[in-house]
Amino acid sequence: MQKRLSANEYIKGILAGDRIILSRAITLIESQLAQDKSLAQEVLEKILPFSGKSIRIGITGVPGVGKSTFIEAFGKNITTQHKKIAVLAIDPSSQRTSGSIMGDKTRMEELSHESNAYIRPSPSGNSLGGVANKTRETILLCEAAGFEVIIVETVGVGQSETVVKGMVDFFLLLMLSGAGDELQGIKRGIMEMADVVVITKTDGDNVQKAKNARMEYVHALHLYPPTPNKWYPPVLTCSALEKTGLTEIWEIVLEFSSKMQENGFWKNNRQEQSLAWMYSYIRQSLESKFFDNQSIKKIIPTIEEKVLSGELLPIQGAKALFSLIE
Ligand code: GDP
Repeated sequence: MQKRLSANEYIKGILAGDRIILSRAITLIESQLAQDKSLAQEVLEKILPFSGKSIRIGITGVPGVGKSTFIEAFGKNITTQHKKIAVLAIDPSSQRTSGSIMGDKTRMEELSHESNAYIRPSPSGNSLGGVANKTRETILLCEAAGFEVIIVETVGVGQSETVVKGMVDFFLLLMLSGAGDELQGIKRGIMEMADVVVITKTDGDNVQKAKNARMEYVHALHLYPPTPNKWYPPVLTCSALEKTGLTEIWEIVLEFSSKMQENGFWKNNRQEQSLAWMYSYIRQSLESKFFDNQSIKKIIPTIEEKVLSGELLPIQGAKALFSLIE
């Protein structure tokens, strides 16, 4: 295991924008080791006053929609404006083929070489909840390190986008223009979460198809009831290969940000997210308090057997176990 620094060394390094120390601090907060927990906590508490000032953008879309190509091009567009950008990834699938894992190494390679960009690949093998919580904390660390735009990328196939929506200010949904199946690629619920829908790969033979898809999404989004923040999600097109449409997307992000800051929804959203985060911690702590309890661990196999054989109803089994920690 890499030697741990002192809390103050982490904090000094992070505030100085030292990305090696930032990476080590993220590794510390991702650590499952009991002895790392209090140090991680101390670092987080101390950097908290320096966090919160970025625009947090969630980006999702089905595999192959062009997320990494898009983030690379979009990110470079942002760094050109001398803004510092961090890209964090949540990949709950962990069933990525070895091909994609190889691919991951070279993902966003150009962006990763930029001095104003920081890319942190997702830790694998963790539960969705676990990864997500560490991502929240990672956002805070990156903000303290001076990153002004934080992109959280997730694969649009599971429940991870709901989790990501709960930790960002702005949610960007990437969509493919398909042959007639425009609205089927993605669950309705995800469309509803989007602050902007972007049709990717609007280039070559695909331009007309993308324009048609754009109109379909415009109509589809019209059917949704207006949201309390009075934001009407626009539908844009872009090509990450030809680098078109990227500036327009960034302008929408800025427009959203200034409107929401003005009408109070920016702050409101972050406050709600903080409360949700607290409750998610409570749930997790209760769960580990329960499952880490030695007497419960000991008796669980017996109770399981009784439930399997029908001797106990599931609720009776649960109650018997609960009685041990009450
Ligand atoms: P991800 O799985 O969503 O991260 O998608 P990738 O970024 O890996 O892209 C999937 C495929 O689409 C790759 O073969 C890319 O070269 C291609 N692609 C990505 N963006 C564009 C684009 O703007 N135009 C075209 N024509 N192809 C693209």
